[in-house]
Amino acid sequence: MKNRSPDFFSKPARIGFQIPDFEKLDKDILFPGSSTRKLRGKELANELILQCATLSKKHPLRPHLAVVLAGEDPASHVYVANKEKAFAKAGFSTETFRIPSAEVTQSRLIQLIETLNAKPDVHGILVQLPLPSGISSSNVLSAISPSKDVDGFLKENMGALALGEFSGALPCTPFGVMVLLASYGISVEGKNAVVVGRSNIVGKPAALLLLSCGATVTVCHSRTVDLPSVTKTADILVVAAGKKGLIGKEHVKAGAVVIDVGVHRNPDNTLCGDCRVEELIGHASALTPVPGGVGPMTIAMLLVNTASAAWSE
Ligand code: NAP
Repeated sequence: MKNRSPDFFSKPARIGFQIPDFEKLDKDILFPGSSTRKLRGKELANELILQCATLSKKHPLRPHLAVVLAGEDPASHVYVANKEKAFAKAGFSTETFRIPSAEVTQSRLIQLIETLNAKPDVHGILVQLPLPSGISSSNVLSAISPSKDVDGFLKENMGALALGEFSGALPCTPFGVMVLLASYGISVEGKNAVVVGRSNIVGKPAALLLLSCGATVTVCHSRTVDLPSVTKTADILVVAAGKKGLIGKEHVKAGAVVIDVGVHRNPDNTLCGDCRVEELIGHASALTPVPGGVGPMTIAMLLVNTASAAWSE
């Protein structure tokens, strides 16, 4: 039987999580009128949230996440509300500390984090980014205790990942991408993987995870010369450039798997990603939709990381 749990899932696996099998379940779920598989992150995330709820009944400790929401950025408020909803659905608890821009200072945020670090009933701390201008996110984030860094952004956790160790929390978005691939039985080992984007929260950790799982990895960024010639070498293409419609048919080898991490709001309020989806349907072998692809997986992995922090103690 195929082992669906790669090494990076060993810590969550120890506390009872399993990577759901969507390979057979979703065999016939295709983008309409094409042979391109739709990688349904939303449904997979729901499955993981259900696992959280089931496991929660067996554990005496209720995982608890403290969220620091500084400023009035509307998108951040929506993201935090979505996280709160998912945690409630799993039977986990959250407390959000809302600090208006006028009252935010770096020292106030660090003081709040230090108080949360000292509380044994807080298992995870999330600082919603971006922080208001003038506040250094790296200074604030580095105040979080590494064992409560459920976003996996700290040097201690990113460093472990760079060493090929999975001892700390993994950054939620790339972690979600890897679980999505594993769940659909898309093997990474020996494949050419190209990541577009080198940010510390998505591109870089995605490249490290793909590398750890045996892919030959190339990372592209804004200085890459002739992007299509590089992305066309990919069997697995992970796009996290934050540029609406950047990637089209000319960038993608026929039959490649394309993971679209980008999120953009259209004038009509609908969402879209970094890929021109209509060009890739019928060309890629599998594709994540936006919305309903990577976004929900990011939240699901935050739950898994918080449960791991609470139950591995
Ligand atoms: P970011 O920090 O702005 O990084 C973007 C990266 O893309 C940079 O490395 C940049 O290169 C590269 N890039 C920009 N334009 C490019 C181009 N034309 N060709 C090649 N590379 C290019 O963004 P991020 O935080 O990684 O996020 C990326 C996207 O993912 C955004 O749309 C964001 O909203 C979305 N996102 C989604 C989720 C989710 O849960 N779905 C989570 C996080 C982020 P340089 O380094 O050279 O500037």
